[in-house]
Order: sequence, then C-alpha cells, then structure tokens
Amino acid sequence: MKSLLPLLVLCFAGAHCFPAHLELKQQDREIVQNYLEKFYDLNPVGVKLAKKKDSSPVIEKLKKMQKFFGLKVTGKPDNETLTMMKQPRCGVPDVSQFAVTDGNPKWEKKALTYSIDNYTPDLAREDVDNAIKKAFKVWSDVSPLTFTKISEGEADIKISFYYGDHRDNSPFDGPNGILAHAFQPGPGIGGDAHFDEDEKWTKDHRNYNLYRVAAHEFGHSLGLAHSSDIGALMFPSYAFSDPDDIQLSQDDIDGIQAIYGPSNNPSQPTGPKTPQACDRKLTFDAVTTLRGEKMFFKDRFYLRKSPYDPQAEVNLISLFWPTLPSGIEAAHEVAEKDIVRFFKGDKYWVTRGQDVLPGYPRSIYSTFGFPTTVKKIDAAFSDEHTGKTYFFVENEYWRYNEHRRSMDAGYPKLIINDFPGIGSKVDAVVSDNDFLYFFSGTRQYKFEPKTKRIVTLLKTNSWFNCGNY
Ligand SMILES: [Zn+2]
Ligand SMILES: [Zn+2]
Repeated sequence: MKSLLPLLVLCFAGAHCFPAHLELKQQDREIVQNYLEKFYDLNPVGVKLAKKKDSSPVIEKLKKMQKFFGLKVTGKPDNETLTMMKQPRCGVPDVSQFAVTDGNPKWEKKALTYSIDNYTPDLAREDVDNAIKKAFKVWSDVSPLTFTKISEGEADIKISFYYGDHRDNSPFDGPNGILAHAFQPGPGIGGDAHFDEDEKWTKDHRNYNLYRVAAHEFGHSLGLAHSSDIGALMFPSYAFSDPDDIQLSQDDIDGIQAIYGPSNNPSQPTGPKTPQACDRKLTFDAVTTLRGEKMFFKDRFYLRKSPYDPQAEVNLISLFWPTLPSGIEAAHEVAEKDIVRFFKGDKYWVTRGQDVLPGYPRSIYSTFGFPTTVKKIDAAFSDEHTGKTYFFVENEYWRYNEHRRSMDAGYPKLIINDFPGIGSKVDAVVSDNDFLYFFSGTRQYKFEPKTKRIVTLLKTNSWFNCGNY
C-alpha cells in the first residue's frame, strides 16, 4: 500500500513539491538563507548556502529552526523544512522558545490605548474596526489589561497597513510570505502592529483573516514572543482556523499572565492544551487508517507516528484538511475507494489523500439510512475483506454494506453481544492485521473478532514509543 507520507510532507497546504533526490534549487537556497536571516538571526555577510553548503552558521541556525518547529533536526534543508519555510507567517523572528520576548519588555500600565492609523481597502472600515476590537478582546479576556480606541493623541499601540519597505528596517515582501509584524512594548514604535497591504485581508475563512492575524500580532505588542506550541496563537505560522472560533491555548494564557498577572475575572479563564503523545491521560476522538498509516484525532489536532522520528507528530487537522471541523467524532478508511470518512454530529465529510471532496458535508441520514434518533457516530471502521463498515452509536452498532450502499438488515445490535468486554460506549476504533483496537477513555482494547475476545489491554498511546509504564 502506498504511503501518504511523502505526499503530505512535501505538498501540504499547497506548497510546491520537490522530489527528495533533487539538488536544492537556487531558489530554495535563497529561501533558506533569507528565512534564517530574517527569523533566526543568521549573519547575512555573504554566507550563501549556494557556495558554502557546510557553512556551520547555516547548519546551526537550521537546527535551531527545525527544533523550534518540531521537525526532525538534521541541519539540512530537507523537504519538510522547506515546506515549513514556505508557509505564510508572522515577520517577527523566532527568538525564543519561551513565551516572553527577550528582556521581558512590558507595559507598566494596565489600561492601554490603540489607534487605527490607516485602513485597508480590502474591507469596510467597520469590519476593520470590528476585527481589531475582537483581536484585543482575546487578550483582555484573560488578563487584567484593557484596550481603548482613541482617534486623537498618540496611542500606545498604533495599527497601520503598509506596502513593502515602510522604513522600520523590516520591509514587507509582497503577497504571502510575511503577513504582518509587531513591536514589543515601549515608547514610539513600541507596541505598534503593521499589516502587509499586499495581502488580501478578509473577515471570513479566505486568506488572510485580519482578526486572526491581528490577535497574534497583539501578543507581540504586549511582550510575547513566538511559541513552539503548534496549538498556540503565538505559533509563528499562519494556520487556518475557524475565524469565529479563535481561542487562546493554555500556553498563550500562561504567557500573558506571566507578564501581567491573572485576569480580574473571578473564574480564571483556561484554554485548550495541545495533546502530548505520551500523556498518560490521553484520550482520542477518532482513529483511522490512512494509506497504511494510522492517524489519531483529538480536538483540533491529529497525532501520528512519524516513520523517521521516535516522537509522534502532533499537528493541526486544518493544516491537512482546512475545511474539516475540529472535534471529529469518528473516522474510517474505505481502502478500496481510497477515501476516509470523517463524522461529526449528523454530518460527514469525505477526503481522498489531502483533498476534502466537493459537496461535503452531507447528512448521515440520507446516505447511510440512520434513523433521526441517531445524533452522532462514536466510532467506525471498515472491514476490507467483506466491504462492510461498522458504526458504533452508544451501546449499539450498525453494519453498512459499501457495495450495495445500504445498511444491512437486522441492525442495530447490542455491542455487548458481539464485542464483549469493550464497554458500552466507544470513543474510537481502528483495525490492524485482523485485530480491532477499541479506545474507551484512557484504555485501549486489542480485540480479536474471530474469537470475540479481548487479547490485550493497552494504554491509548501504545502506538507512540512512550516506553513501558
Ligand atoms: Zn508573530
Ligand atoms: Zn513595520
């Protein structure tokens, strides 16, 4: 079975694809050099990768960059590294792995002012006002800070849209690439946020959502540096997420509160944590095979065992499939059709490789014939040998015939009769080598369908080289 991995690693998010065996193109050498100069403080004194491939400053900086992004640390500009370098991102350097900018600059007052010094023609004025207001609210909700818009006098945080070189030693670069940058707290330009007017600014899911980018930049305006937590708003790359559902991760909240203290809100706000593969309490929403690999889903994230790295990869679902929702409830592959179905509530989506097929989501009632009493699917898997797909719904399961495209008669049946021991409610299930792996809370049951018996009781993260415990 062909692996999805090279395709995903090389081509996700619309990046260009480079055959691994090809020499680095001149264009890519320049990308590496420029990226490291801009974001990793590489000295630009003619140390061109083109001429001095083994130049150690480049290798050291590359390693630093790879470590920051959770990539395999090779010191070489491999495909995965190049792909990451081509992602649209913030123009502020990745100076620190920690949440606070070097030197810990901060505002010495809690009541801050901002002004919008010019407006992008891409959006109506009120849409810009609205996006900026909401972006500040993201931070005032979790800290003692307040933000007031002023139109006269000098504001603490000045917001503007600029093309190209705008005389602050950090020129913008035309469409894509760098989207915006902001300055750490301080007088004058300190705290100011600049947006690249060569981008198309939007208020919806199209690139680039102003609210999403502004919320990130204001983190810098308040003194935060980039985070290497992929789930954090302060992660340097622009990742699409539902613009109505932008929330700070716990990492962002910890960062801002480390500078300004807790929120005045009587109940302290909390944010989602990025799942850790070896967390003993890890539970999954869904698990599926995908062209010979296994993918595990949790909130906005997927986890998978990387074939060349002992550590599991944790990444955003939206990087692969921008239009899939977070909180997938069930997923299964139909290998002979080369598709994966994803379920949430009474809707489902179909993907092939990294494409979400057009025309989705669709209703589970019209396609599969579920009665409307079924509100969601807990888990699903397909049996390659029989062409049957099994759906688990609370304490019952259904069987669907992929060839006849109809639900088999006599269903639903009780889980307890045919899958004894796995409990009455399943989080996820995946098949592997004639065994089924059922996930329920922090437990995983290796189940042999032939004998209807549980063979082994495992931790949910037994697939991730977490050691024995
Ligand atoms: Zn940034
Ligand atoms: Zn600027």
